[in-house]
Amino acid sequence: MPKTSAYATFSADTPLVPHSIERRAPGAKDVAIDILYCGVCHSDIHQSRNEWGHSVFPMVPGHEIVGRVREVGSSVETLEVGDRVGVGNLVDSCRTCEACLGDFEPFCMKGAAFTYNSSEMDRKTPTFGGYSKRIVVPEHFALKLPKELDLPGTAPLLCAGVATYAPLRRYNCTSGSRVAVIGLGGLGHLAVKFAAAMGAEVAVLTSSPSKVESAKALGARRCLPMAGEATFAENLGAFDLILDTVSAPHDYNAYLSLVRPGGTMVVLGVPPEPSPVAAFSLVFGNKQLAGSLVGGLALTREMLHFCARHGIAAEVEVIPIQEINEAYERVLDGQVNYRYVIDMNSLE
Ligand SMILES: [Zn+2]
Ligand SMILES: [Zn+2]
Repeated sequence: MPKTSAYATFSADTPLVPHSIERRAPGAKDVAIDILYCGVCHSDIHQSRNEWGHSVFPMVPGHEIVGRVREVGSSVETLEVGDRVGVGNLVDSCRTCEACLGDFEPFCMKGAAFTYNSSEMDRKTPTFGGYSKRIVVPEHFALKLPKELDLPGTAPLLCAGVATYAPLRRYNCTSGSRVAVIGLGGLGHLAVKFAAAMGAEVAVLTSSPSKVESAKALGARRCLPMAGEATFAENLGAFDLILDTVSAPHDYNAYLSLVRPGGTMVVLGVPPEPSPVAAFSLVFGNKQLAGSLVGGLALTREMLHFCARHGIAAEVEVIPIQEINEAYERVLDGQVNYRYVIDMNSLE
């Protein structure tokens, strides 16, 4: 099996280090991809530190992958050598179950093969992610990138992008919708760009006063202090849709008071502990509290074309892979604007 250079972590409390992994030779329906850039998602940190409790080591994180097709299997129909492609959270699923057929491949009834910290559909072969030079995936899971898209700014679209685009589409964000985005990080900044491009009036709720200017530059009309008394006093029932990207503990009931009758708040951030929701917060006003992970392949493809039409990319800082451990610390300190993307040319 061909060897591929990578960065891996061998336990929850040790840093990422250079490593060598094996990638299969492409099968008939596979494509082999030279990885050019990979985004650094907050979930890479959670999983490499075993904060969700099911980590498998050694682990090569990374599921915001963009690159160029290097080789195609004999039956590949949709891609050619040289095509620019993206790979997100998934590298396989059964493709026959109700979830897969309904564009919910991440929730495949047989269990999807996630891009890393998971296994291929044989449930034996571990999957390794994008902090590596090369990856091999079925063509169905490699999305051809529209030519307008710039590669580093596109990498985070494959996870953070579709994670925020999906609920905006599902809950009918459109011209004139009043949308609030809670938290202005990797997810939040893309939510603001998408909602503004869909014509919504966007407000950002943030705990960082320093982000007011950048929120407006991203397309927000208003920026409100997340915990400010006036935020709640003056905006009761003010929003059709709230996207909550915060993964620190917070009180859902307070933010539900900002949802209009019949409106929806969507949970995207994952706080470590359960947070109680009073039935009254939902019943009074016929409100919905929903969750959302990422989209299926069709919706991801739609999102990439939406970005091409509207000139949307993630705001990124490109780093060499040798700085990945420091980058993790800076993400945890909230110092990144707004996403680190690794330049894979830095890896020999
Ligand atoms: Zn992610
Ligand atoms: Zn399935």
